[in-house]
Amino acid sequence: MLKDMERFLLQLKMQLSSNSYHLFIIKEEKLIQINNKLIIKLDMRMNKFFYQSRILLFLILFKSFLISNTLKCTICLSKIESEHSIDVWGNAFHSHHESEGLFCHSCSRIISQKITNGGYIYSDGRQLCSLCQASVIQNDTESYKALNDVILQLSDVGIDITPENISISIVNLNQLKKHIGILTDNKLKGYTQTHKNSKSSFKYEIFLLNGLPELEFKATLAHELLHVWLNDNSIILNNKIEEGFCNLGNYLIYTKSNTKYAKIHLTSMENNNDEIYGDGYRYMKDLLIKHGWSQIIIMLSSL
Ligand SMILES: [Zn+2]
Ligand SMILES: [Zn+2]
Ligand SMILES: [Zn+2]
Repeated sequence: MLKDMERFLLQLKMQLSSNSYHLFIIKEEKLIQINNKLIIKLDMRMNKFFYQSRILLFLILFKSFLISNTLKCTICLSKIESEHSIDVWGNAFHSHHESEGLFCHSCSRIISQKITNGGYIYSDGRQLCSLCQASVIQNDTESYKALNDVILQLSDVGIDITPENISISIVNLNQLKKHIGILTDNKLKGYTQTHKNSKSSFKYEIFLLNGLPELEFKATLAHELLHVWLNDNSIILNNKIEEGFCNLGNYLIYTKSNTKYAKIHLTSMENNNDEIYGDGYRYMKDLLIKHGWSQIIIMLSSL
């Protein structure tokens, strides 16, 4: 563990000195701009060590031997004269940076001064590029605006949810894990706690991970709102079908957005090899494509 950490810090140091871009560290939801040396010290104090390859959930790298005369590496800015890699956004870099490069947790771009104007590091080790950080949902006003928008998008397909009994809290990864109370991995972004008000009415507390850009925040929220809808309608499903169905919420938001960022997230969902979130999602998405939202709603309601 310690060796891994030393290796990571060394790699981070190398990349920082070779590229001299600004990184920010985010502690307890505050953004603090600090110099490179301080980042390394703070990182060393983090008890939960993070190694970047573990969070590359959907980074797709292509290797290429086609070299153009003018191709420059987006990390070290020197000329590319040999085999190189290309991130999912088409940014080329020397393949030997693959193990040391910092990639955005949300959009998978390589974080560099040239491409993303630097980036941010969250206290749990997630790295976010400045482009994604710009739209991160950070306060109640923004999160309730997002809630209303997602409720509208869901009602367009026939899923009706009333916002009155729903509260949203933005929490860090440790807090999110505490709420769930079970061993989870770092892919977790949202969780809904259900409280019974009376015999037939419920109150929902939705916890969403901090540092989610607007679209990812809305997609995660749509997923949680489908859990709310299932509960409101007393629909009980097995884990795989339930999570697969709720992932149709993410699918809805991303397909409506029709951006490259959304397509990357859809590809990531499509390639998720998890039995519940991956297989369940593909199963439900096939049903959705064949029958449409209205039929799925009728099918689920008649269970
Ligand atoms: Zn390079
Ligand atoms: Zn990004
Ligand atoms: Zn879920």
